[in-house]
Amino acid sequence: MWIWALLLLPAAFGQQTGEPWPEWTPGTLDIHQINTGRGNSALLIFPDGTSMLIDAGDGGRLPPRGTAPRPDASRGPGEWIARYVRRMLAHDAAPAIDYGYLTHFHEDHMGAPGQNSKTARGGYKVAGITEVAEYIPIRKMIDRGWPDYHYPAPLEDAMMRNYRAFLAWQRAHNGLQIERLHPGRNDQIVLLREPKRYPNFEVRNIAANGEVWTGVGTNTRAQFPRIQDLRKEEHPTENMCSLAIRVSYGKFDYFTGGDMPGARRWGAPVWNDVETPVAQSVGAVEASLLNHHGNRDSQNAFFLASLRPRVLIIPVWSSDHPGHDVLDRIYSQRIYPGPRDVFATNMLESNRLVIGELLDRLKSSQGHIVVRVDPGGSSFRVIILDDTAETFRVKAVFGPYESR
Ligand SMILES: [Zn+2]
Repeated sequence: MWIWALLLLPAAFGQQTGEPWPEWTPGTLDIHQINTGRGNSALLIFPDGTSMLIDAGDGGRLPPRGTAPRPDASRGPGEWIARYVRRMLAHDAAPAIDYGYLTHFHEDHMGAPGQNSKTARGGYKVAGITEVAEYIPIRKMIDRGWPDYHYPAPLEDAMMRNYRAFLAWQRAHNGLQIERLHPGRNDQIVLLREPKRYPNFEVRNIAANGEVWTGVGTNTRAQFPRIQDLRKEEHPTENMCSLAIRVSYGKFDYFTGGDMPGARRWGAPVWNDVETPVAQSVGAVEASLLNHHGNRDSQNAFFLASLRPRVLIIPVWSSDHPGHDVLDRIYSQRIYPGPRDVFATNMLESNRLVIGELLDRLKSSQGHIVVRVDPGGSSFRVIILDDTAETFRVKAVFGPYESR
């Protein structure tokens, strides 16, 4: 018996409240929901060390309706994110982001330059993803618009012009590769170092621009009507066009789908609900990031009943994240039975006052949220890291959870 206790020691070391963050080790899948208070950003470290950054927001609102910047406002969110990534990739002799990935083109996911934004060597402004690249190299960008940025109509505002100037300069000077996400495929985002060592790891592309994987082979179907058949005001919104992927490691599955909606507004056409076709192909998962920050138009009952997440993560930056009804659905035993733990990166007091006791059920409501999946994928933990400084002290550990 004592031998087993000894074997368990290294895995348990550091994953204790008050201890410093235990470094990533080969075979582990880490999913960090980074809290800057200014929008979404997640770092994934795959079992062979391949790294992926999903979004790098620099937007949202300022307090009191928006959350406060974390750790503080002395640096931009992109710089904080880059510093976080460098720290978590400290095991790597030459840390870099192998895959940069934007779920969609909104400032709380990619960053919008403002009056005070600095200008990069390449002549573009730095904010969000373009600021991240100032501090750590990005090798490949994946988004929903490359190469023409024309869907559903030409994307030509100041933020997009700046982003495209960034892509062009990084491509010419740093060899940046750029791709559009191809729904249905499982060979676009792959292990780059030791793929043969982890054959049960997969990233499946689920959706982009309303093109959704059917669950069969690499087949997809179009959720949206043809653009030429729609009036401009009927076009799919930026949120509806969000990219979605499923990350699988053995029995463990994780879903992340940007700001896709699933609860239609009154009178809106059926195709405005993107969650339903997505849920049909994704199936059950262990952990899921809430779509659209848990806003009232997300997490419909069919979507929740299909994914049945054991762990749900809410990336919050506003006083309406999450919606009261959304939290009610999430905790509903009628929608899906069994236990579930819900974690939020932030929570505003105003939302606490409105929602009340349902919000008191959150397991955590402040800090970076890390899903650490054990080698092979059969079990995982959720670790909350202090976001007030760069000490990355462990605030709390939940689990282990069994993958199903
Ligand atoms: Zn958003």
